[in-house]
Amino acid sequence: MRQQRLLNPTLRDVPGDAEAASHRLMLRAGLIRQLSSGIYSYLPLGLKALQHIQTIVREEMDRAGAQEMLMPALHPAELWKASGRWDVYGPELMRLEDRNGREFALGATHEEVITTLIKDEIHSYKKLPVTLYQIQTKYRDERRPRFGLLRGREFLMKDAYSFDRSTSGLDASYQAMFDAYVNIFTRCGLQFRAVEADSGAIGGTDTHEFMALADVGEDTIVHCPSCQYAANLEKATGVITNEGTSSTGLPQAQPTKIHTPGVTSIKQLSQFLTIEPQQIIKSVAIKAEGAPVIVLIRGDLEINEIKLKQVLGVAEITMLSEAEIQALGSIAGFIGPVGLSSVKLLADTSIQGLNNAVVGANEADYHLQHVDVQRDLGELTYVDVRNVGQGESCIHCGNELAFARGIEVGHVFKLGTKYSESLGATFSDENGVSEPMIMGCYGIGVSRVLAAVIEQHQDERGIIWPNAIAPYSIHLLTVQVKDEAQMTLSEEIYQTLTSAGYSVLWDDREERPGVKFNDADLLGFPLRLTVGKKTSERIIECKERRQGEVYELNVEQLLTHCQSLFN
Ligand code: ATP
Ligand code: MG
Repeated sequence: MRQQRLLNPTLRDVPGDAEAASHRLMLRAGLIRQLSSGIYSYLPLGLKALQHIQTIVREEMDRAGAQEMLMPALHPAELWKASGRWDVYGPELMRLEDRNGREFALGATHEEVITTLIKDEIHSYKKLPVTLYQIQTKYRDERRPRFGLLRGREFLMKDAYSFDRSTSGLDASYQAMFDAYVNIFTRCGLQFRAVEADSGAIGGTDTHEFMALADVGEDTIVHCPSCQYAANLEKATGVITNEGTSSTGLPQAQPTKIHTPGVTSIKQLSQFLTIEPQQIIKSVAIKAEGAPVIVLIRGDLEINEIKLKQVLGVAEITMLSEAEIQALGSIAGFIGPVGLSSVKLLADTSIQGLNNAVVGANEADYHLQHVDVQRDLGELTYVDVRNVGQGESCIHCGNELAFARGIEVGHVFKLGTKYSESLGATFSDENGVSEPMIMGCYGIGVSRVLAAVIEQHQDERGIIWPNAIAPYSIHLLTVQVKDEAQMTLSEEIYQTLTSAGYSVLWDDREERPGVKFNDADLLGFPLRLTVGKKTSERIIECKERRQGEVYELNVEQLLTHCQSLFN
């Protein structure tokens, strides 16, 4: 391809709201343009990279035995009503009506459509198992579309669905997809981790998320540097020991009231009393489907709402109002577990063993000091309802856990029979007995992968494409396009390389060399070849974008050199 004719509008400056490096670079390098919030066009170079990712996804899905198909984006509302998700999915589902007032949704995911299809087409165990996939555009009216392709409202997803007759069959289908994902993300050049994730309230047992490591990632990963343990913060567990900390082991005194006027937050309290937040027990007053509960957690830690909902077996949790707290005999800002007998107490394991703690006194402007959890709070139910905090150790090997940020690029999920039951996808076994199919679903954010790749492979000058994803492998620059000899040699090189199967973008623009070099760094193809001063000696200049150093090469050595770089 000749760059002269390429639609590649590069930019010097990008809008200030483009926060993520990948978003800025994709705009600057002319890979994408925004049409509306979270909705993008792919320009030629962006599309090429996206297609390379799709090819890798297809090859690995096919290799894993999945079959490609394509489903519609427009879904009749009845399907989503039948699964119960028309109401549950909420405002993220884009809804519309046809000319007759019939309701539709733009597909946010395809469990309903695929399950209905399979229900109509497969009736016997003889046709199972089967795994189907598609690469298709999804629509989600995200609350906060941002970071360019990382969180779009229209985006490209690979979604796959497996149908099995047994849970062991599902295990095998799941493992095949898991392995395929490892291959896909490795081939895309991503640094990633598969982490245990929360499977939500309904059905599903196992679920893993594939996280591309990047600071811009919206997920927090908790992982053990010594063993294989890695989990999403929403699911992760760790071990806390309070032994030997400032909040334990001190001489025992009885709980004593202390005047703390207007001091209601953990931060204020620790400053006021000059103690560590670890020495305070936070009492959080919540309402779990109507019933009040006080959750006790160490002052430096945060409640994990997903775990809390699971422990309490509820779908919704709200905070108690000031009036509701008063009705329990306490007061907002000064709640504490001592003497609060009318309400259910739930203790996070982080407060276990504290014997010199500070808690609210259930009285305006007072706290209690010297509280010994075991002595003063009686029998408590201990549960894990916290986000793992700094310094916790691994449940498997005891080493200290570490934290990282990640972009969720893929998700594998054992669904079980949730959709096959609600939508009636059953099969008959050898004895003619009808059973619901056991399903798994497997997603990859194909367009998000593109952004994640750039997020991990860039520097201040531009993108540094991994070979497998680069829109073009080679960027051929002619310094003086008016110089006939340079153009002739460039043409020769272009023909040689393209005939040998390499993808080459030839910068034949009438631009200053500086502009061309800057653009080449910004576009970031793996190898830059420059035809310039030494044309008469058939010597060109090479620069590998990742390494950066410039060296000379005789044109006669070019093919061998490319082979060593790319094959
Ligand atoms: P997230 O927590 O990021 O919203 P999700 O749990 O909603 O993701 P899934 O429903 O599991 O995502 O979708 C499968 C895959 O699709 C995700 O792993 C992710 O890579 C991708 N994806 C989800 N939402 C978006 C989006 N708004 N833009 C781009 N890719 C997305
Ligand atoms: Mg989402």
